[in-house]
Amino acid sequence: MHKKLLIPGPTEVSQEILREQTHPLIGHRSKEFSQLYAGITEKLACFFELPSDCKPTVTTASGALWFDIVGRSIVKNKALVCVNGAFSERFGDAIQACGKNADFLEVEWGKVVKPDAIAEKLETGEYDTVTVCHNESSTGARSPIHEIGKLIRRNYPDVMLAVDSVSSMAGDKILPAEIGCDVIFASTQKCFALPPGLAVALVSDRAVERAKQVPNRGAYTDLVEIFKFEEKHQTPSTPNIPMFYALNKRMDLLLEETYDKVYQRHKDMAEYTQQWAKKHFEMFPEQGFESITVSCIKNTLGKSVKELNEKLGEKGFSIGNGYGKLKEETFRIGHMGEWNTAAIKQVLALIDEIWGLN
Ligand SMILES: *Cc1c(COP(=O)(O)O)cnc(C)c1O
Repeated sequence: MHKKLLIPGPTEVSQEILREQTHPLIGHRSKEFSQLYAGITEKLACFFELPSDCKPTVTTASGALWFDIVGRSIVKNKALVCVNGAFSERFGDAIQACGKNADFLEVEWGKVVKPDAIAEKLETGEYDTVTVCHNESSTGARSPIHEIGKLIRRNYPDVMLAVDSVSSMAGDKILPAEIGCDVIFASTQKCFALPPGLAVALVSDRAVERAKQVPNRGAYTDLVEIFKFEEKHQTPSTPNIPMFYALNKRMDLLLEETYDKVYQRHKDMAEYTQQWAKKHFEMFPEQGFESITVSCIKNTLGKSVKELNEKLGEKGFSIGNGYGKLKEETFRIGHMGEWNTAAIKQVLALIDEIWGLN
């Protein structure tokens, strides 16, 4: 039996979306492809309310490509990397692997890096880029990127803000104009509820201008090249065309639901899950900074998540265990993409039944 995915990515994908990938292939230098891609970028710009100096681009890779793009094309000399879990750490590791300097501003897993701590570091004038993971999927913590963005835009106009929104974009409130970020990116297999294989990024013109001053940007990771092809509604190399059809359909569905309702639906699912979690367990992340797309719950009753998943599997569902060092200590419910509160209620009721909670 297929087990519907409530893990923090990939998430469940509907048949309607899967079918979109069966369009006959077209050439990526054809007019049809440019039209398809132009439509997608227009829809992305509309959904994320992009100002004229911020543009979408779709790259064929998982979201982690953008760690490298930031490392290669955005960081000039040294980045300040906010670290509060596994993914934010990987961002910093990638920047270093690109040969750039990176200082890790680290807090305990489950906590978030606060704007004050970032300001203190930026006062040294050493950093040209700040990286933040908006939604740390390993801990379920949601960083205050709006406050961080405001701080950087107001006091450090030359510093670039790059945000990993891999597990929150198209679920949580992610409007680049409100955040004041320069690069923000996501993978398609998270809140976009598509198969893996593409990354969506929203990039400021300032970021592309910065990239022009950065040498050794690589080839696949060259932001200048990416946006040169963007002018023709094309990509530098052959894209995952079937997925572009699926993304096009997804954008139609998101626009039809509307931005506010998509956000509200995720917020509702998170609130319901958090209430349930607090009744039986505790939330893992710092209070007030809980993700609305991934609930990370402290396994205070020491239950076996493995056994739970086996039994849930018989009912056709699958949730996530803890990430890395939190494997035994926590479990995670990914409520992103096409899920809704009614379905979450059903799954949590099944967990109640299996674990004998009430
Ligand atoms: C899933 C995830 C990633 C990695 O995304 P890939 O699509 O596997 O490259 C990065 N950051 C966060 C926060 C994630 O949840």
